Parts: sequence; structure tokens; C-alpha cells
Amino acid sequence: MYLQCCNHTHEPIMLLDGVAVTIGRSAGTKILDKLCSRTQLQIVANHSKKYAMVKQLGANPSQIDGINIGQGKTDKLSVDRKCDKKGTSSLKSRENMHNSQKNKTSENFDNGTAADVGPPRATVSKSSHWSQGLKSSMTDSSLQVYKDDRVIVIKDKYPKAKFHFLVMPVENIVSTVHLNSAHASLLDHMWKVGRDIAKRSCDDDTKTRFRYGYHAVPSMSHLHMHVISQDFDSPSLKTKKHWNSFTTEYFVDAEDIIHEIKTEGKVKNRRHMTELLKNALRCHICHTELKNMPQLKKHIKDCR
Ligand SMILES: [Zn+2]
Ligand SMILES: [Zn+2]
Repeated sequence: MYLQCCNHTHEPIMLLDGVAVTIGRSAGTKILDKLCSRTQLQIVANHSKKYAMVKQLGANPSQIDGINIGQGKTDKLSVDRKCDKKGTSSLKSRENMHNSQKNKTSENFDNGTAADVGPPRATVSKSSHWSQGLKSSMTDSSLQVYKDDRVIVIKDKYPKAKFHFLVMPVENIVSTVHLNSAHASLLDHMWKVGRDIAKRSCDDDTKTRFRYGYHAVPSMSHLHMHVISQDFDSPSLKTKKHWNSFTTEYFVDAEDIIHEIKTEGKVKNRRHMTELLKNALRCHICHTELKNMPQLKKHIKDCR
């Protein structure tokens, strides 16, 4: 389930089953009004019963369907009902609940909402394998391999290697661009969880090498760290773009991102790196240039 902004001023906010999410005035919700607390509402979704319990933490009134919740009080928000975080006339803070469960198999949220998400997402959907479906994949229990209070790990729906996982924060963070020094420990945790999952996934084969990292130019979706084995043995690995996104500098090691956050408080702008996706195909081990994907695939089978 997720919380969708009625005005589409921000990305839908993921609501995991039973996990409390705090929302309010923030860069993420784009609510600037000081009347809205930074921790205005705490929301806990109940997926099977299709509602969320909303607790008002902030002092100023928040409403559900026009009725004040009251500070410290909790009220039930059903799917498709409206909740006003601030209780004033600002439409910016209006939210309504949608249910994304019904469309688990699709790459999009659902037809109705996909059209509503605005130009950035629409563009991304053409070039990126699953950017739109990432959030629905997060709640797909068939893909989920690990979950704690801070992160969720899923199998990549279109794995580019024998082992390919995505480590994502529960907190709604769109991409590496939205990270700051306050996220340092979260990133450390994501990296640690990623290494644990890698170890666990192939403990019979200690030779399997993994890399942990982020794409240089992130998709407008949800922050995710790739955990990918270096065999690149997968039918879903089809294009030059796929290959170069995991084997050139376009793939930024988690350590580098963590280092930048700890020293600079933000991640470097790597927008120019999309050019790397057009690079000639080269083996990631011996750097031999190959003519096309079939030849590359044949080559990497033996180049170990
Ligand atoms: Zn990615
Ligand atoms: Zn080679």
C-alpha cells in the first residue's frame, strides 16, 4: 500500500505492512508550511484489512475526511479516503490512500496511477527496466528475501547475474541525490545487510565474487543498492546499456557513496556518466573488446 499525494507534488510514500512511517514537513513531501510539524503524522498500514492507523503527533490539527484527529489520538484511514496532514486549506498536504497490491505482476503501479505520476516518471519508464514497479516489488513477498526496521531486500525482478538483489531503505528516499550526512548510518547498514545476503545466498560457493553499489544516474523511484554477483550469467542481461551500467564507472561502489556522504555530506553529481553507457563492450575481467552481446556472453563464460 502507499500514500498518494492528491496533488501529485511528490512521489507516493511506501507503507509497508505494520511498519510505522512518520510524515510531515520535509523535502520529500514538499510541505513547507511551518504549521505542519516535521513529524506531523505517524502511519501504520494494515495490508490485509486495507486501512492504515493514523496518529497525529504534531500540535496543529490534521484531518481524515474533514474530521480532526486530535494530537496524540489515532484514527483509521481506509483505502481511497482523504487525509489532510495540516488541517489548513493547503491542498499540498492532502493525501489519499491507494492500494497498489492488485497489480503485483505489472511493472507499473496500475494504469490509473501510472498516468498520474508526472513527466519525470513517464520518461524514466521508457528507458529503465523497472523504475516504476520498484515500489510494488518492495511489497511483493515472492521477491522479498530480508526485512528489518530500516531496510528491505528483494531479488531483482530482472536479474542481470546469477545473484542480483536490491537493498532498499524503508524510509522514503528517492535516490542518491537526496542523501545527506544524516543517512550515513543507514548506508552503512544497507551495505552490511547486502554483504550478509550475498554470503547467505551462495555459501556453498565461496568463489562467487560480488559487487555492491549504486548507479551513477539514479532512476526517479526509490533508493536502492545493487548486490550483484560478477558472473553476469542471466538471460535478462540483454543490452549494451545493461552491461555498461554494471561494469563501467557508471556502477559506483557503495563504499564510495558512503565515503562521499561522510566527508562531503552529499553524493557527487555524476550526470555526465550516462555517456559511459554507450561505451564499447569490454570484458569486465580481461578488458578484451567484444563486437556484440552474444560474443560477450560467450567470452565471459570462460574468462574467469
Ligand atoms: Zn539501479
Ligand atoms: Zn575476458
